[in-house]
Amino acid sequence: MIRGGWRGSTRLQTLPRNWRAIRQQVLARAGYQCQHVRYDTGKRCTSRANQCDHIGERNNHALDNLQALCEYHHLRKSSSQGGRANARNHVADPVKHAGLL
Ligand SMILES: [Zn+2]
Repeated sequence: MIRGGWRGSTRLQTLPRNWRAIRQQVLARAGYQCQHVRYDTGKRCTSRANQCDHIGERNNHALDNLQALCEYHHLRKSSSQGGRANARNHVADPVKHAGLL
């Protein structure tokens, strides 16, 4: 579990407190279907959406900047966007903070 008190530039920390509600709204708006449009067929992905993705600015949580994606398409997008950031997150070392408690 994530503990409070550590600071860094992880994606989770940029999410608003009502993120769950926003996410739920985005998924419902999409009918719980992935909004990714396949380049080859021009048709929408038929997988069930369970991820909420930022289309543009990651700090813009407006509904029109959010889309529902299936896990596959969200992972594909995330890996091209923030592969390095994920690697950096693993550096967070709880032992370092033990002395502060
Ligand atoms: Zn999809």
